[in-house]
Amino acid sequence: MNIKLLHPVSRGSLKLNSVDPRVPPVIDPAYLSNPEDIRVLIKGIRKVQDLIKTPPFQEVQASFGPSFSGCLHLARDSDAYWECYIRHFMEPGHNPVSTSKMGSVNDGSTVVGPDLKVKGIIGLRVADASIIPEITDYTNAATIMVAEKAADIIKSEAKNPLPPVP
Ligand SMILES: Cc1cc2nc3c(=O)[nH]c(=O)nc-3n(C[C@H](O)[C@H](O)[C@H](O)COP(=O)(O)OP(=O)(O)OC[C@H]3O[C@@H](n4cnc5c(N)ncnc54)[C@H](O)[C@@H]3O)c2cc1C
Repeated sequence: MNIKLLHPVSRGSLKLNSVDPRVPPVIDPAYLSNPEDIRVLIKGIRKVQDLIKTPPFQEVQASFGPSFSGCLHLARDSDAYWECYIRHFMEPGHNPVSTSKMGSVNDGSTVVGPDLKVKGIIGLRVADASIIPEITDYTNAATIMVAEKAADIIKSEAKNPLPPVP
């Protein structure tokens, strides 16, 4: 059984490392930096512990997670023990979004406006998962929708071009 945190509250960051676009950016996912994420994951563990007590799981002798010696200094099965366990074994399963957040052009945390145009740069749009402001459970369908919307906006602008900038 796999417990997934699809809506993490922790927020990471992506920053440019150099003015040279070939230099990789600095990505800090800041996993589990918000205690709420630990709380939700422990709630998931408790849910699984309840599930494996049910007859169908007992029939197949289901058990939950081997104990981990690195956390045995904490009371076994306490929330503190599971927090330690999560911090050792957790791996990311959600699909990160929002590095080019879409929203109001007046909002300092946004990169693109509702027309997907990058604020302050002429002739550049972003149309991928990075514009999704809040993480969705799964991102593929939402990304396809963003791409289709971008195509519609571009086609509509081609039909009704803006007057040239004087
Ligand atoms: C392992 C895994 C499983 C997933 N499972 C699901 C799922 O079950 N359901 C779901 O809804 N979503 C799932 N997703 C998420 C979904 O695939 C992504 O959210 C979606 O593909 C994001 O689309 P995108 O266009 O933003 O980025 P991508 O699909 O990553 O596209 C980026 C494109 O840009 C290209 N590119 C990168 N750098 C450059 C460059 N410098 N110049 C030119 N091109 C460049 C890449 O080659 C790529 O084609 C999964 C993702 C992963 C990694």
